[in-house]
Amino acid sequence: MGINKIQFQKGLSMAEFMERYGTEEKCQAALVGSRWPSGFVCPECGGERHSTFERKGLRYWQCTACREQTTAICGTIFQATKLPLTRWFLAMHLLSQSKNSVSALELKRHLGVRYKTAWLMKHKLMQVMSVREGSRQLDGRVEIDDAYLGGELPGGKSGRGSGNKVPFIAAVQTTETGHPLFACLTRLEFTKGAMAEWAKKSLSARAHVVSDGLWCFRAVTASGASHDRTVTGGGAASAKLGKFRAVNTLLSNLKTAFSGTYHAFNFSKYAHRYLAEIQYRFNRRFDLSVILRRLLRASAVTSPYPERLIRAAEHCG
Ligand SMILES: [Zn+2]
Repeated sequence: MGINKIQFQKGLSMAEFMERYGTEEKCQAALVGSRWPSGFVCPECGGERHSTFERKGLRYWQCTACREQTTAICGTIFQATKLPLTRWFLAMHLLSQSKNSVSALELKRHLGVRYKTAWLMKHKLMQVMSVREGSRQLDGRVEIDDAYLGGELPGGKSGRGSGNKVPFIAAVQTTETGHPLFACLTRLEFTKGAMAEWAKKSLSARAHVVSDGLWCFRAVTASGASHDRTVTGGGAASAKLGKFRAVNTLLSNLKTAFSGTYHAFNFSKYAHRYLAEIQYRFNRRFDLSVILRRLLRASAVTSPYPERLIRAAEHCG
């Protein structure tokens, strides 16, 4: 069965991880190779000719054309970090290999850093995942369903009607026979306008959407997609319908991940990032052995995202 192949795949063991990324030199070489796979490219002018030198134990690249001096972390999500790269690599490894999620508190214990530091690292890496998944578009057969964070999920402290309850849409592209391929988890108000905007961004014109009775789902046709609406009466009844098995399984796994990992977090403020983290891992679950390399590459090409932006309320786009 396909699901077992995914669950029992080898992944990257901690022993292999330590062998590959156990020292600062190895991490630096991996970052440089990931950022500049065909050799140095000046971030300022695109020039390739350069010289290198060391200052205070840090390696610098100097562009021959424009004299710009840069380090391996400068201009990446790691910019201005005071931590050794080995800590960042371990954080990336833990976040990318875990089946569920790793909380900032767990990360703090594994890395031996302060809670605030671990929290910020986690949010920066989740931001990388969010940027990477921002252009995800689903095609073919797509199951969609509406859900909430913080209200119905056991991990949430607050109940229905609380301002901390965040609506989101779960969409899963499947094979014609209903096996899950890729997913989109998007924070969204359930209005026709928001649904139409979401559909234009997240669905190809060839997509065929199956949904339950939520009225605003009709707006998915704004993307050119076709839509098959099955009124289920909602609640537990819809879970029994094979038609929505992929999206229901994803939502059930998401609930487990959240309830086991997070006791409380500010859903209303950071929900988009937590959803992006689940989505990122789900969409790369077929090959866990390379997910760290892919996250490293994504981190190396994602612009710095300072703490004040990380802590700012969600901005769309
Ligand atoms: Zn230059």
